[in-house]
Amino acid sequence: MLDQNQLKMRKIDKAIVHCTDTPSTMDIGTAEIDQWHKERGWRCIGYHYVIRRDGTIEVGRTEDNQGAHCKGQNRNSIGICWVGGKGEDNRTKAQTESLKKLLKSLRARYKGITIHGHNQFSEKTCPNFDVKEFLKNEVLV
Ligand SMILES: [Zn+2]
Repeated sequence: MLDQNQLKMRKIDKAIVHCTDTPSTMDIGTAEIDQWHKERGWRCIGYHYVIRRDGTIEVGRTEDNQGAHCKGQNRNSIGICWVGGKGEDNRTKAQTESLKKLLKSLRARYKGITIHGHNQFSEKTCPNFDVKEFLKNEVLV
C-alpha cells in the first residue's frame, strides 16, 4: 500500500541544464556521476537525467525525488546533465537531439515548466552553452 506522502507528487516548474565539465573523450554516465556525488557525501547522483556522449538518456534520481544540482532551486526542478563541456560547448549532435526530446517530454508533462541553464542561477559557466539562445533556435513544442 502506498501512503499519502508517496502518492503526492512534488510540484515541478523548472528544468535546469548542467554539464559534467569533462573532456569530450570521457565516455561516462550515471554510474560514474553517482560515484562522484556519493564521494561528496550525497545519498546518490544529484541529477534526474544524464545525457551520454552517444545521446543515450540515463535516469538518475526519479522525478518524484528532489534533486541536488542547483542551490536554492532543487525543490521544484528537474536536473539534466549532459556529459562533456570541458572548457567549450562540445555537445554531440546526438546529445542535442536527446536534450530536445527530453525537454519536449518534460514540457508535455509539466504545464508551464520553464527551462534554464545552471548559469542563470549561479556564477558558474555550467552548462557551457547559452540555454536561452538554444531555446530561441530550437522548436520544442
Ligand atoms: Zn551545473
